[in-house]
Amino acid sequence: MKLDNRMAYITGGASGNGAAMARAFAAEGAAVAVADVQSALAEEVAASIRATGARAIAIDHDVGDEAAWQEGLDRAVAELGPLRVLVNNAGIGVGCDFEDETLENWRRVQRINLDGVFLGCREAVRRMKDQPSGSIVNISSVYGIVGAWRTAAYNASKGGVRLMTKSVALYCQHKGYPIRVNSVHPGFIDTPMISGQERHLGAEGFAAMRSQIIEATPMGRMGLADEVAAATLFLAGDDSSFMTGSELVVDGGFTAR
Ligand code: NAD
Repeated sequence: MKLDNRMAYITGGASGNGAAMARAFAAEGAAVAVADVQSALAEEVAASIRATGARAIAIDHDVGDEAAWQEGLDRAVAELGPLRVLVNNAGIGVGCDFEDETLENWRRVQRINLDGVFLGCREAVRRMKDQPSGSIVNISSVYGIVGAWRTAAYNASKGGVRLMTKSVALYCQHKGYPIRVNSVHPGFIDTPMISGQERHLGAEGFAAMRSQIIEATPMGRMGLADEVAAATLFLAGDDSSFMTGSELVVDGGFTAR
């Protein structure tokens, strides 16, 4: 099994990509901590994993809260063993016209998407450096590589994650720590982050958005959370043992042209 007996802490694990990762990692032998602000949903995911015979717990964790990182990881370590894999997956995506963007919304996006990843990486490095190995996977986006016209705050946060990943990867090698740090860049994936847009756009607007997405994606469809989970599993485990500071794009060809 690719993650036999390793504890994996997955933020945003209650929904979409994170829930698919939690299931995929557990199927490969990991003991999984499903960390999320949606604690009831996180417990549902953890319970469904336990029902397969694997180990999983839910942790009520806001990634923008510094103290919550200590508390969440302390609990996961006590119940599941030392931290070997961290996936910084929690994120929000909010778009608006740039000239109407508020500082409040800008800061909310950076707090979750960028501060949360910084806090997670720092805490993981401190805890993983004395382990036999550690793998940190940061979930960025194709919007950490290319821009879009209504997503300045999201682009800034995900671009920040992309380069912070490389810096932390280099830091760990410089210090001789056995920790690899990589980023994943999903394209448009069929999760509640996308389906939730129907509430704001209405049925017609949402259908139009879906067809624009499909048209912009050379493979002609949205990706699945399981496809992001498979790429993340590859980076989390030893199959990617010579990869650090790299970026893995999972986008059906969106950024290829
Ligand atoms: P999702 O909305 O289904 O899941 C995101 C999860 O993050 C939710 O469970 C939510 O409760 C949790 N979360 C939000 N704020 C949090 C906080 N402060 N602390 C802890 N948890 C918090 O969306 P998803 O598509 O599964 O997104 C997962 C990641 O994938 C995000 O980082 C997102 O930016 C990235 N991504 C998604 C897509 C896509 O098209 N769906 C594309 C590129 C990147």
